Amino acid sequence: MTRVLRIAVPAPVFRLFDYLPPPGASLDAIRAGSRVRVTFGRRKMTGYVVEVKASSEVSADRLRCVDTLLDEVPLLSERDLRFLHWASAYYQHPLGETLRLAFPPSLRDGKAAKDEPPKVFFLTELGCRLLAATSGRKSPRRDAVLAALAEAPDGLSLSHLRQQHGDPIRILRDLKARGWVETGAGAPQAASAMEKARLAPPLELNPDQLRAVEAVRNSLDHFGAFLLDGVTGSGKTEVYLQLAEQVWQRGGQTLFLLPEIALTPQLEARFAARLAEPVAVFHSGLNDTERTRAWVSAQRGAAAVLLGTRSALFAPMPHLGLIVVDEEHDASFKAQEGLRFSARDAAVMRAREWDVPIVLGSATPSLESLYNAQRGRYRHLRLPRRAGDARPPSLRLVDIRKRPLDSGLSPMLLEAMRQTLEAGGQILLFLNRRGYAPVLTCHPCGWIATCQRCDTPFVVHAREKRLHCHHCGAERPLPQRCPDCGEQDLRPLGLGTERVEQALTRLFPERNVVRIDRDTTRRKGSLQQALDGIHAGEAEILVGTQMLSKGHHFPNVTLAGVLDVDSGLYSIDFRAAERLAQLIVQVAGRAGRGEKSGQVLLQTRHPDHPLLQSLLREGYEGFARAALQERRAAGLPPFGHLALLRAEAVDDQTPCSFLVEAAGRLERMARPGLRLFGPAPAPLARLAGRQRWQLLLQAAERRVLQRALAELRSALDALESARRVRWSVDVDPLDMG
Ligand code: ADP
Ligand code: ZN
Ligand code: ZN
Repeated sequence: MTRVLRIAVPAPVFRLFDYLPPPGASLDAIRAGSRVRVTFGRRKMTGYVVEVKASSEVSADRLRCVDTLLDEVPLLSERDLRFLHWASAYYQHPLGETLRLAFPPSLRDGKAAKDEPPKVFFLTELGCRLLAATSGRKSPRRDAVLAALAEAPDGLSLSHLRQQHGDPIRILRDLKARGWVETGAGAPQAASAMEKARLAPPLELNPDQLRAVEAVRNSLDHFGAFLLDGVTGSGKTEVYLQLAEQVWQRGGQTLFLLPEIALTPQLEARFAARLAEPVAVFHSGLNDTERTRAWVSAQRGAAAVLLGTRSALFAPMPHLGLIVVDEEHDASFKAQEGLRFSARDAAVMRAREWDVPIVLGSATPSLESLYNAQRGRYRHLRLPRRAGDARPPSLRLVDIRKRPLDSGLSPMLLEAMRQTLEAGGQILLFLNRRGYAPVLTCHPCGWIATCQRCDTPFVVHAREKRLHCHHCGAERPLPQRCPDCGEQDLRPLGLGTERVEQALTRLFPERNVVRIDRDTTRRKGSLQQALDGIHAGEAEILVGTQMLSKGHHFPNVTLAGVLDVDSGLYSIDFRAAERLAQLIVQVAGRAGRGEKSGQVLLQTRHPDHPLLQSLLREGYEGFARAALQERRAAGLPPFGHLALLRAEAVDDQTPCSFLVEAAGRLERMARPGLRLFGPAPAPLARLAGRQRWQLLLQAAERRVLQRALAELRSALDALESARRVRWSVDVDPLDMG
């Protein structure tokens, strides 16, 4: 009997293609979930077997054969396939391209999934002898590396050495050249009894933590969603650690998603100190070999924990027993291109498919998750107290109306800063705008330096003496004179972190000021270096963007300031207020975590704003209640569901008329409950030389929206005008621009 393989190819097409098995292949070997090499059109690519069936609608003599079967044993399970099918359909993204995302780059290219052990470094005999013989110490770092290697007869991996010794590559290279050190394949990382004895014992849980662990543990055999709502430092991570430990004792793996690459080393170290079992790390900052190794160890069931950013969501894990999404409110869980998935939302679907519990943790849960908790879909677990006995910081509004500001700093804030510094505390100032100033204008004539490709003002970067477009990345030198009137009186308007840093250096000349934003941390390792400086107490005043609000522990920071609260209160983005409240609470969480209590000052011209007032009086929960009421009244998420159809082209007319046509199709479908807004120019109407338009779809029920989108997509594929624009569908968009 002949069989036909249904193959998904990584191309922008929604249909699947039938192929015959490769000549001579044993048919039993071919199962859904295997990769194959196929010729598609004239190109060779890696395709994915989605189904093996008895016959095709296409006659056999017109079918091509698969070139090669790449996996004897499928890498994806039936469950993985079902889950990826769901993601493809829900986010309106081609199945082949969705499946591709489940693999690390080397496997997408068709390489074999090899379980290569990591390379380890060990001391040679010569090295041992010389180490014993030498006594005159010259380089403490080199000696530390040697001492560590001397203690590890099985060798140490590079990542292990990195954790303990910064970046030891030069030292290792040098030692290898001298014959002291050799490399080889490491043994699989099973912990020795001695190592296990060295592991940190679990902490004794406080009653709130205990209740949370119990609740999840009682659900380990089936699906259940839990919102772990705990202030910063309340011991959420301890809860995750103990759960992962228990899951592994039952043979289950934990998938742990977190928003920031920068946060993985800390957490990896905590897991490694606790679990004797292998922890695999997967994110885009790793090289291809490292990613493949982590992926394979998850896929084989060897990794107890897979720690990763949103791309780790699709990694196959045969013994998946628990999913954790930490900082679940974070916007980076939503992908902004390609498969525009929300790793948090899709993780809940994955937990359902595998019938395992999922824990969403945050000090400032998203309104979506809070609403799910209110409705009883998620179980709400609270950790209201900090685990140590640190006291929560106090929030205070600083009314800056009619106050003289020095580079955005009010006299009250400056006074509080002086007191804090005298008492030996550190200060954290927050401004969500990098660069020196967001606008450069000509004082005599009003000309504004504008990026022609985006129609938005250039941002001034003073130290570099350049203008940057923060949308498309265009750059140019700072002009000397106005191109319109020729005058030389060009002035920067408004504030960025660089300008605040400069002012702080002037105002506090004897203090050490450190700026942390994308511009100062571009170099690899520079963020870690800056964070180390903060911990060592060298930095006294920190100024930064939201990078500073995430996950880092600064126990000696006793004063935090949010310089511009109002830009979050008055924004066209309906989520801006939620983000602002999250930011304030997260920043507050960074202040005074040790024994010291902290205070947070919020500069505003709208001290009576109702959302600000509810945040101050009733905390984040009160804010969320008020904000949810506003959302309900407006039919916005989580009370209504949204999708954006975006289109762009070089001219203004094409995307607009394409969307008019799309709207026409939708209207003719006459789906009750579906509302359309637009087409209208996108909030960022021009980007990198292209005009951008959008059509917003809204429905009270997800189902209505899903059906309309599916129908719309196949209609659009057939539209002539669709070929003249670049278009995309964004389901549950986070960024409305
Ligand atoms: P979160 O993840 O909520 O920010 P962590 O789990 O990192 O909190 O805990 C904050 C601090 O409190 C850590 O230093 C941790 O070791 C400590 N801690 C957590 N739980 C306990 C506990 N039950 N007893 C004592 N210390 C704890
Ligand atoms: Zn631009
Ligand atoms: Zn001018």
